[in-house]
This record gives sequence, structure tokens and C-alpha cells, in this order.
Amino acid sequence: MPIAEVDVKYASYRQDAALADVRRGQNGDLGDRQYRFGDQYLIIADDIEWDSVAERARDIGVGLTDPKSLPDDSKVYLVRQKGRLFEKAFPAAQIVHNGGRFLAVSLSEQEYERVSQHDSICFEISPMPDSGVVFERRVHRSARREASAWVRALVDMVSADEYQAVLERLVSFPTRHSMSEHYHSAVKLCKELLSNLGYETRLQEVPIGSQVASNVIAEKSGGLSERKLVIAMAHLDSINIQGNSDSTAPGADDNGSGSAAIIEIARVLQDHVPEHDLQLILLGGEELGLFGSKHYVSVLDDADKARLLAAVNMDMIASSNLNPPTVLIEAGDQAILDELATAADMFTTLHVETSLNPFASDHVPFIDAGLPAALTIEGADSQNDNIHTEHDTLVHINAGLAREIIRMNVGFITGKLGKAH
Ligand SMILES: [Zn+2]
Repeated sequence: MPIAEVDVKYASYRQDAALADVRRGQNGDLGDRQYRFGDQYLIIADDIEWDSVAERARDIGVGLTDPKSLPDDSKVYLVRQKGRLFEKAFPAAQIVHNGGRFLAVSLSEQEYERVSQHDSICFEISPMPDSGVVFERRVHRSARREASAWVRALVDMVSADEYQAVLERLVSFPTRHSMSEHYHSAVKLCKELLSNLGYETRLQEVPIGSQVASNVIAEKSGGLSERKLVIAMAHLDSINIQGNSDSTAPGADDNGSGSAAIIEIARVLQDHVPEHDLQLILLGGEELGLFGSKHYVSVLDDADKARLLAAVNMDMIASSNLNPPTVLIEAGDQAILDELATAADMFTTLHVETSLNPFASDHVPFIDAGLPAALTIEGADSQNDNIHTEHDTLVHINAGLAREIIRMNVGFITGKLGKAH
């Protein structure tokens, strides 16, 4: 006898982060296919289990949406996308839950094959995470401890005006595509800005096929004899996905926003004498497949790998789509997430989302090599449809949001670097 098709249903509910902390233990009762997207939860269960799921939901006081059926023979997968680029590439895909950067989509086996073979650096597909946590939204807490006065003084030096002035210069290049002449002009400008701020600077050649792009590396040495290493980085290149290397690609948010932040951090720390070493890195070739960061990690020697305390990446930090303003922190391990979230609580009013599902930016090659790294980016519900087009311009930039994310990162970085004497 043929086995009957199992009808699978899904629904979602919302729960405040504050309540979620209290009820975390109880929610498991809603079944083992429960996935957290910030303060939204997606529940998937066979039809036969659904009555008890609904009853338990009533018992613990959460309101489920009306359940919907998954198409026959389909399964739910996790998609991580930049902007809305998966939705643009596969407009017919059935979205079961939309968490912005993170989607749950239902696909047949064949569709899954087709999507996973699609050669794209704009999205990635995988099974849903075993942990059930796609990303968490934390409650903003007033800081539990005071920052050192010298750390706070440095954090308070971060200026939206100084930041905006540098960003305007970066966006004035017609493109910063890694294969364009303009990229090399942007590299030259940034190297000069960093040198003028007193950093040792050098270019690192990044082979991309038969061509070469560059990473800009600026260094400040610490005062201790045995020194650790702290890295802040951002990709300098931009892209117009519809065009070629000469097409207009101002890349204001992606990623003039992170690049200008590197220069601003350099300015803020110019007179600071740390205990440990600092590297500020502008990477090339990110939009073509993380070439700059892959190359940097591949030539990093074992001694530097062993002494690396943290590498913080900034990508798309100035487009404000969420209210309240929110930063998403992605990392490979919980410790670095918690430290950055604490810095957000201490130095900003930002709300914090965290994810252990790192994707599609320069922190990934570090994490893949087992190194401590994190991405800081505007919150996960990004509505940014302008990235990778000629519309990624200053009009959509919120320097105040960027300032908050830079304050968080300066607090985190200086805590790691220490202060000599
Ligand atoms: Zn980017």
C-alpha cells in the first residue's frame, strides 16, 4: 500500500525579546521544528500534530497565525541574502517566513538543486539550523558596568560630520569596481588618508583571475613586548550587478559606509597608544567573491593567526530601515557576539540582533579559518533594494546610524587594544 502524503503545516508567532528570555524553556513544547527569527518564531509541524501545537500555544499565551500548508513534496530551507537579491533572482519561490536577510523558503528537491547550483555571491541556501536559532533579538539593557574614562573619551570622539565628509569623497568615484581604474584611485586616496593620520600603510596585491586588485593595510604598533593583534576591516569595492566594471556604482551603503568608518576609526585612534597591535584594512574584490579577505587570511602567518584577538568587519552600516535603529552582529562564536552586544549597550542606544549563521562578507574567510571574527551590519530586516545598483547613493545614507555602529566598534576595539602606561 502506498504511504499517504503527510500534510505539513506552518505558522508563526511573535514574542517580545524580554518575554522570550523568560519563556525560552517552555517554547520547546511547540515542537522540535521551531525557528527563531529575532522576535518572530516559525513553527512547522505535521498536520496530525497541529491540534496539540495550537493547544500548547494557547496555554503559554502566544497567538499563532492561521496555519498554512506546505506544497506537497517540499521542504523548508534557510536562505541568507544580501538586500533582496534572492527574492529578485527567484521571484516564484514560496517564502514561508521573511526575516529580511534571512528567509525560510519552501522548495521541492528539484528546486533546491536548481537554487543551490545557481552561482551567486548574493545569497546562500542551506538546511534550517539544528539549533532552531536563525538570529536573536536582544533587549537593549542599560550598561551593567561603567566604561573606563579613556575608552569613553575615544568613543565620544566619533563624529558623524567627519565620517560624512570621507564618505562623500568615496562616493564621488563613478565606481569602485575592483577591475576599474577608479578602484585604484580610491585605494590611493585611502592609503594617503591613513598615512596622513600617522599609520604605517602598505598595499597587498590580491590576484583576481589574470588581474590584480589591492587591499590597503594600515598598522599601529602597541607598547607591550608580547603583543596581540586586533583588526577592523571593510571592503572598499562596489559593484553594479546589471553592468560591467565601468558601470555607475557609487556604493554609498555597500560599502562606502564601512570604508569611511575605517577612516573615522583611524582618525579617532590616531593619538592613542595601545598595548596591542591594530590593523585597519580596506579590502578589494569582496563583491567578486571575497577575494581580498580570502587572500589576506591565506597569507597570514601562523604567529599572527595565534595572536589575533578579533577581526571586526563593517559592511552596509548606514542605511536605516528599522525602527528602533538596530545592528546585526554575525560571528562564528558566542563570546565575540556577547562582547560586541555589551559594547552596544554601553556606548549606544542601538538594539542588537545576533546570529551564528555568518554569510557573504569578509568575516567569513576568517571564521572558516577558525579565527575570531564578526560582521557588524544594519539590522536583519534590511529593505535595501538599492545595493549593487546605481541607486546606492548618499540620499539613502544615515550618518547618525553609522556613528552609533562605529561607537560600538570603537568601544569594543579599544577594550581589546588596551592603553599603554
Ligand atoms: Zn558589501
